[in-house]
Amino acid sequence: MSATVPRVPAGSLRREDAGRTVQVKGWVHRRRDFGELVFVDLRDRSGILQVVFDAELLDEPELLGRAKELRGEYVLAVTGAIVPREGSARNPDMPTGDVELRATALELLNRAETPPFVIEDDVRASEDLRLKYRYLDLRRPEMTSNLVKRSDVTFRIRQVLHEEGFLEVETPILTKSTPEGARDFLVPSRVHPGEFYALPQSPQLFKQLLMVAGMDRYYQIARCFRDEDLRADRQPEFTQVDLELSFPDEETVYALIEKLFAAVFPAYGIPCPVPFPRMTHAEAMDRFGIDRPDTRFGLELRALDVSASPSEILRSAETAKGIAVPGGAAFSRKRLDELEAAAKQLGAAGLVWVKLQAEPPGSWGSNAKKMLDDATVASARAALEAKDGDLLLVVAGKRATVNDVLGALRLRIAREEKLVPEDRFDFLWVTDFPLLEWHPEDGRWYATHHPFTAPRPEDVPFLDTDPGRVHARAYDVVLNGMELGGGSIRIHQPEVQSKVFATLGISPDEAKAKFGFLLEAFRYGAPPHGGLALGLDRMLMVLTRSASIRDVIAFPKTASASCLMTESPGPVADAQLAELGIRRAGDDGPKPA
Ligand code: ASP
Repeated sequence: MSATVPRVPAGSLRREDAGRTVQVKGWVHRRRDFGELVFVDLRDRSGILQVVFDAELLDEPELLGRAKELRGEYVLAVTGAIVPREGSARNPDMPTGDVELRATALELLNRAETPPFVIEDDVRASEDLRLKYRYLDLRRPEMTSNLVKRSDVTFRIRQVLHEEGFLEVETPILTKSTPEGARDFLVPSRVHPGEFYALPQSPQLFKQLLMVAGMDRYYQIARCFRDEDLRADRQPEFTQVDLELSFPDEETVYALIEKLFAAVFPAYGIPCPVPFPRMTHAEAMDRFGIDRPDTRFGLELRALDVSASPSEILRSAETAKGIAVPGGAAFSRKRLDELEAAAKQLGAAGLVWVKLQAEPPGSWGSNAKKMLDDATVASARAALEAKDGDLLLVVAGKRATVNDVLGALRLRIAREEKLVPEDRFDFLWVTDFPLLEWHPEDGRWYATHHPFTAPRPEDVPFLDTDPGRVHARAYDVVLNGMELGGGSIRIHQPEVQSKVFATLGISPDEAKAKFGFLLEAFRYGAPPHGGLALGLDRMLMVLTRSASIRDVIAFPKTASASCLMTESPGPVADAQLAELGIRRAGDDGPKPA
């Protein structure tokens, strides 16, 4: 009989289905035994459905006995009629709560051991245990739903890009070092002893070559690998929506990404009005101290005039900036000490705080009274549009440090003071990045984005005279202070590329060794091109409101880059190493057989 009964997803059944005879297959989520009546909540990917074994209604009484033997996570096929639930029997908390399935047939497809944790959303197990038994963790409805959403989001992205004429092309995983500037994962070659592939940090070079190849518009949901230091929300392998276009300008890229986001975010309850506002990198740094500003709240940084302050330290600093915390004059000494410690840890020489007091009018208190006078405080108060009862936080020193420190304090205080409207979503383009960054530790310029990013044509002459002044045709798309993606218009003229390499201290020989194939390709008619890559995992965190990046990846690594389920990375046999011509440090070589 069951062969002719259709199998339906358990979570799909609704009141309109009442009267249908169906089959559902899935796992025992929960079982409740009331003697003559046994309830089984049956779970599959689509959701949970209540199944009833009712002695009074069963043609085959032995079915009740078999239902009583079911245990959590047993795998079943159940056939029966969908019947409505009425009154207090309804469960408004479940999408299927208006109906239940009256079982007439039960097939036990598999048994299960007691799982190491209870499979429910409100899981109490440690994350390590969840990751070790990830296949069980993924059965939890919340995790299942994250994977379903991930698949839906990539489908929507593919749909838009397909409509826009993009070609999906796969690029190699075993490749050569790419220019994103992180550490590579290396893979030894057996066939070429002593030589290595690198796993791609991004498909950057290949997508540019695809433009030279005339593919016009390319995209890929691309896995990228970066061997960077541990951080809570970083994965050594992650996914980018990587794309590249021929003959674009910045506007082409902005319009495309806005269209893509408008097809994704609203479907997940996140309004996405387009076009997005834009802000230059310089303005972002000035006002927010960071290149990915969270514009949902104030506390903006302002430059302060300290030229008449009694303090030589203040007067001689490259810059002095401040933020005003509304009502912050009430902060305790302990809290101010903590903020000062945080500022110092971020590189500030100190943090000056000023409490603006109402009584007597115009009075103030500070941890650095000797560095300030009434006029300096009054001018800071005016610059920061502060009022009595507010707290001013002032940092002086090198511009980059001041921005770093105040940018971080701004975020911290906003979080602690609950100034961030959680239901607001601010998309933003950050534009006009500097092409190059000076690294004092090794006294050289580095590419802010990567060395193939085009300088603004009018800035090219400064490459020789004042490289720090050169703006890049680079852009980032930011949401609520989070960088969702970034890209640039690329260099396509060999002369400009050589100039940029020279400024970066990359010699022609080194350029040839590293990127020779790309430079050669550029000699054969490279179209103007540009693109961008979006961090898919981060986007999904926002769309699913997940707190951890690991919750939107099926099989993630821990914060220390291991997989607890497969126990990778792990040791390999000596024979494998010998085959690769690799010796462990301290080994004298393969042991004689
Ligand atoms: N490859 C760049 C990155 O991974 C993105 C781009 O320039 O398109 O950041």
